Amino acid sequence: MATTEFGGRGPRRVLLRQALGGDEFVVIAEPVDDVADANELAERLLVALAEPIQCDGVLLSVSASIGMSMSDDFTRPASERSGGTELLRDADLAVYKAKSEGRSRIELCDDDLRAEMFERADLEKALHQALEENEFILYYQPIIKPPVGSLHGLEALIRWNRPAKGMVPPDDFIPFAERSDLIVLIDQWVLGAVARQIRSWNAAGEYLDVPISINISGRHLGSADFIDDVMSPLLDAGIDPQRIIIEITESALLEDLDGAASKLQTLRSYGIRTAIDDFGTGYTSLAHLKSLPIDILKIDRSFTNDESASSLVQLIIDTGHLLGATITAEGIETHRQADTLTSMGSDDLQGYLYGKPCPAQDLHIPAQLA
Ligand code: C2E
Ligand code: CA
Ligand code: CA
Repeated sequence: MATTEFGGRGPRRVLLRQALGGDEFVVIAEPVDDVADANELAERLLVALAEPIQCDGVLLSVSASIGMSMSDDFTRPASERSGGTELLRDADLAVYKAKSEGRSRIELCDDDLRAEMFERADLEKALHQALEENEFILYYQPIIKPPVGSLHGLEALIRWNRPAKGMVPPDDFIPFAERSDLIVLIDQWVLGAVARQIRSWNAAGEYLDVPISINISGRHLGSADFIDDVMSPLLDAGIDPQRIIIEITESALLEDLDGAASKLQTLRSYGIRTAIDDFGTGYTSLAHLKSLPIDILKIDRSFTNDESASSLVQLIIDTGHLLGATITAEGIETHRQADTLTSMGSDDLQGYLYGKPCPAQDLHIPAQLA
């Protein structure tokens, strides 16, 4: 393991050591007076690393994320020192945070970060347990067709019945799960649960022709097993793929547009329809939309709630129609919103006005809702 002197202003001695991870390095600096001193050194390191280098005739430049931790351990008598283990662990926590916040960031490990990271580790363990112990539940929210208000779909929305904590909404755990393959396991659970629910509705003669929308994360869409993960539960439960709509957010689709387009096309060839969720919040251009096999555009709640956005909403509706998609307006809470969106040409409406998401057994939807 190479140890390099890395002199400069500030700390008297700065050592650069290659760490255990292939692309991770440890910088040991001492003495460091305060956080500002450490920050200044970290900033100099980022600048030095960003300097382009010639490699086989190619100009390369790298960026880095820096996690810092500070200790006065080494000023103590040898018998009272705890060793560098905690210092390294804290730096590791800080670099993890720096990486998750974007490129070229510097983070210091403090008590708040330590608490946050331990909480995350707890959450990860608890979510794995939730999968094993079947603690997730699917709620369903109606999607209706105006002006009559007949039921035109149900969106499956996950909830976590966490022991000793109660019902946890997806915004409290889905974004966290999306940072790892945990989200793939959760999506797989949802796909299986929806297939079982449709089978049981079919057996009871309920909601026979109602399509069910399922939210899929971008990470799952990008995985090699995605098509199989969607199709297998349907085949196992004998469900017609035409009953399924896969919803993917605009931002997730943009991560790998070509890959997404080809996978959605494959699903479509099996009869599954696709929807772009939260449309309007990302940066999809017309060219993107044209290249995606999309059946439904779901206009995000932030637009349907904002009267000043009406010309934009009209543009989205007209563009969607031109491309052969239908439009669902989300977040409809008032009759006034419903009337406005209907007169603008929205094909379907979804929102608290027609029903909040609820467990399958609590769905008592009359043939006409409005
Ligand atoms: P989303 O897919 O955009 O789902 C719509 C969200 O808006 C739902 O929140 C729904 O309860 C809420 N909503 C519907 N109508 C109204 C309304 O009129 N007013 C207001 N204020 N809210 C309304 P929820 O169930 O908390 O889900 C939040 C997000 O979590 C979802 O947003 C989706 O991105 C994600 N999510 C939910 N279930 C799943 C799942 O099974 N898998 C994955 N990967 N993500 C999920
Ligand atoms: Ca959705
Ligand atoms: Ca949405």
